[in-house]
This record gives sequence, structure tokens and C-alpha cells, in this order.
Amino acid sequence: MTTPEGATAGVARPGHVDLHSHSTASDGSRPPAAVMAAAHAAGLAAIALTDHDTVAGIDEAAPAARALGLRLVPGVELSAVEGSVETHLLGLHLSRPGEIEAGLAGLREMRRERAQRMVVRLNELGVRVSFDAVLEQAAGAAIGRPHVARALIQEGWATDLRDAFDRYLGNGRPAFVAKDNLTVADAVAMVHRAGGVAFVAHPGHTGTLARLEALAAQGLDGVEILHPSHGAEDVARLRAIADHLGLLPTGGSDWHGADGGPRALGSMRVPEEWLARQDARIAERTVGTRR
Ligand code: AMP
Ligand code: ZN
Ligand code: FE
Ligand code: FE
Repeated sequence: MTTPEGATAGVARPGHVDLHSHSTASDGSRPPAAVMAAAHAAGLAAIALTDHDTVAGIDEAAPAARALGLRLVPGVELSAVEGSVETHLLGLHLSRPGEIEAGLAGLREMRRERAQRMVVRLNELGVRVSFDAVLEQAAGAAIGRPHVARALIQEGWATDLRDAFDRYLGNGRPAFVAKDNLTVADAVAMVHRAGGVAFVAHPGHTGTLARLEALAAQGLDGVEILHPSHGAEDVARLRAIADHLGLLPTGGSDWHGADGGPRALGSMRVPEEWLARQDARIAERTVGTRR
């Protein structure tokens, strides 16, 4: 069933939240206010907006959420690097997003230059897509591979997103260019500077006790347990490790605008109690600072 907002209604039950979503401020397909409307339509008690390398969507999302009686958790998704492996971090509960705006602007400039290099690679492969076409798709957002993919589709060089990633843009494919990412310690520090708590996003099978212990030693506060890419074994292991290490739990659909399937908004049925535990950790930390 589809609501006027285009979201699938009734995916979530009361008492559930979704703490990972993207809007047109990065590579999602809906504007921030439409993400809020979809979260409300899905029956969620709270939604976190976690765009890649930007907090620009929060200003539009906040009044929309307020009008709907929906709680908005201000967030961001950062890409970091451990050795040569890209790791995503979620910063949630950013009470001072302005503190990191300059740092995020630098990351977006890096994304723009990287997109330019991807266009050069594509041109060398005979794919005559222009950087202007990519900029048009991004429309001022933090540029990601999905915008390059949409330009390829628009100009007839790929049939759909999957085709564009399979043939050109996916990791290790001929037009793939790695991002110049932050270290994990710098990304965690950035989240803390903005007043937030830092989670490792969708670790999947790489979320082992040894790795999460190492991340916790670098200041990580929690782990994303519920995510569409996780199987039942991942969820069980991550829950046990989070309990063992005292890491906060989080989860979400990583919504980019899909209407149905495992990546529909609210599909992860994240309990509101996890959000309450995050709130409690922040309250504890605030009391600690005041002493
Ligand atoms: P970037 O941050 O520019 O490297 O782009 C990563 C984003 O591309 C992810 O957040 C997804 O939204 C999207 N993405 C990554 N791999 C694929 C894929 N194989 N098919 C479709 N979208 C993908
Ligand atoms: Zn994305
Ligand atoms: Fe991610
Ligand atoms: Fe994401």
C-alpha cells in the first residue's frame, strides 16, 4: 500500500524507530521533509537523518518533523579508512552540528574532485558522460557514486543503478575511484566535537570481537546491529559483542528512497528502547562534564 508521500505504510509498528536514512542532501532520492513525512507515514516514533558528509538536510527536516510530532535525531554518516578498508561511521545526536560544518565541507570538496576523476576514467573508457551531467544529478548535494550512476543512466550509458555499479562504479570496477577518507580516530573525534555519539555502521561479518574492541579503544560508542545487509548470525554476534563491551546498540534501514523490500523505511523494526539507551548515555556524559 502506498501513501500520498509515496512511502510504504504500516511497515513499522508503534514503539519502533529508524536510525539510518539518506535524503537529497546526499544520495537519497527524497528531500529531507519528504523523508520525515515517510517516517511519519510508516508509523515510526523517531527517525535519524544520516546523510553522507553533510548536515545540510537537518535544517529542512527539523520543522517538518516538529509539525508531524515526530522525533528527529540529527546525524551524519562518515567514511573512514582502517588500513586500506573503508569503514562507515554513524554520528547520532549531533547537538552542535555547526562545529563540524567546515570539516564536512572539506569532505564534500574531496567528493567533488573524486567524481571529476571518475568522469575522466569513464571518458577514457569511451563513455562520454560529462561532469556537468553529474553535477546536475547531485543538484548541490554531497556527490556520491549514485549521482554518477544516475548521470550514466540519464545519458543512456547504463540501464539502471545496478548495471552502472556492476560495469563501471562498483568497488574494483574500471571507473571506481577510492575516497580520500578520514582515519577512524579523526571521524570519531568529529562526531564527538558535534556533541554526538559514534557508531560503526553495518559492520556485517567484519564485526568481530577483536575489531570492535580495537574500534572501542579509538573512542567508538556503539555498533549498528540491525541493518538490511546483516544476516541473523551477524545480528546475534553483534548483540553479544555490544553487551560484552558495553557498546550502545543502533539500527536502521539505510533508506535511500526505496518503496519496498528490506531497504524500506522502518523495515528493521529497531526498538525505541535502543534510542532510550542512547539518550541515557548522552545524559550521563553531560552530567560527567558538569562535575
Ligand atoms: P560513495 O560514498 O560515493 O562511495 O557511494 C556509496 C553509496 O553508493 C552507498 O551509500 C550506496 O548508496 C550506493 N551503492 C554502493 N554500492 C552500490 C551498488 N552495488 N548498487 C547500488 N548502489 C550502491
Ligand atoms: Zn548512500
Ligand atoms: Fe554506509
Ligand atoms: Fe548509509
